[in-house]
Amino acid sequence: MQLTSPFTPDMIHNLTLSVYEDAVKLRRLFHENPELGFEEHHTSSVVEKYLRGLGLEIITGIAKTGVVGILRGQKNGPVIAFRADMDALPIQEETGAAFSSKNPNVMHACGHDIHTAMLLGAAKALSQVKDQIAGTIKFIFQPAEEMLAGGKHMVQDGVLQNPDVNYIYGFHVWPDLPLGQIGFKSGPLMASMDSFEVTLKGKSGHGAAPQQGIDAIVGGSHIITGLQSIISRETDPVDSVVLTIGTLSAGSGFNIIPEKAVLNGTIRTIKDDTRQRVAKDFTRIIEGMGAALRLDPDIHYQFGYPVTNNTKEHVDHASQLAESLFGEEAIVQLENPSMASEDFSFYLEHIPGAFLFLGVQDQAGGAYKLHNEKFLPDECVMKYGISLYIALAVYHFKMSQ
Ligand SMILES: [Zn+2]
Ligand SMILES: [Zn+2]
Repeated sequence: MQLTSPFTPDMIHNLTLSVYEDAVKLRRLFHENPELGFEEHHTSSVVEKYLRGLGLEIITGIAKTGVVGILRGQKNGPVIAFRADMDALPIQEETGAAFSSKNPNVMHACGHDIHTAMLLGAAKALSQVKDQIAGTIKFIFQPAEEMLAGGKHMVQDGVLQNPDVNYIYGFHVWPDLPLGQIGFKSGPLMASMDSFEVTLKGKSGHGAAPQQGIDAIVGGSHIITGLQSIISRETDPVDSVVLTIGTLSAGSGFNIIPEKAVLNGTIRTIKDDTRQRVAKDFTRIIEGMGAALRLDPDIHYQFGYPVTNNTKEHVDHASQLAESLFGEEAIVQLENPSMASEDFSFYLEHIPGAFLFLGVQDQAGGAYKLHNEKFLPDECVMKYGISLYIALAVYHFKMSQ
């Protein structure tokens, strides 16, 4: 696909440069003032004020701290949504940046400061060419992507309606790809994320008289090993599943048979039918092995984020546009999904669209992984994101014609 006059790649890059300074200021402001999920009061008030200044229609209080800006073009056309997440993580920052977090034990270590600032930059750039937009853009700023499913709450609160959204796009900074490259994948891009807590109840006793008790540690160990057979023996070897027991708590002394063991963990899959099956297998194995080992299990299984499923059409549009903007060398077609998860999946359950990875790996802070206390991606990645948002709007609104 070709970007043509007046929206040539050069014109889009210039439009991006005209808002870049704003984006940098905003990014540093957000980075310095990080807030945890559903507590993004400062962040969302900055977002609201900025969008108001651009003359957009504003919705606030959606999913508690979410903000939506609506840009209506001069003519009718499709409604597209661009989404950023605003929350930070409970991490003590150690980047040494001049704009380091002022909030103890809270840090933007997943790049959501960049996502939010980049989308505000795109909103400014696109409001400058509003006259040429045939359709509507919803700029979605959601809370609580980390663990708390802010995206799900946004959808439940009607963010995709009134006006109804046709397509949605979102970007995530990605330290597994070099700065300057963008990762694309149609179909499953990121895994589902479910979690569980299991209590195995046995009977306490003297450590020297195991026959008098029911050992929850020995039984629990068998169950932990048994659970892995769901993956090694019951799942197609080319269908990826992860089952991780993250905590195991049991026992009170070296010579006491423990009465109970509590396991916590997570399960990741990349196909919805596998996800449903694994949840059933999990219960079957724990109940069956629990009965065999005289342990009474109490299972709490929680379905969390679904698989992030990109639609091919929208991934293709985005990658072709990115190629016209940044050249062939910027495009990375990803072979495999990431087993991490993302609540952008809740939007994609309802409407088509694409989630993309913007490479940030460099010699400096972008070399660290997401959720690392030293993760500090180069803010120049925002130029790629802003340009791509503009190009997507140009494409969907046929602004070149
Ligand atoms: Zn994260
Ligand atoms: Zn994230």
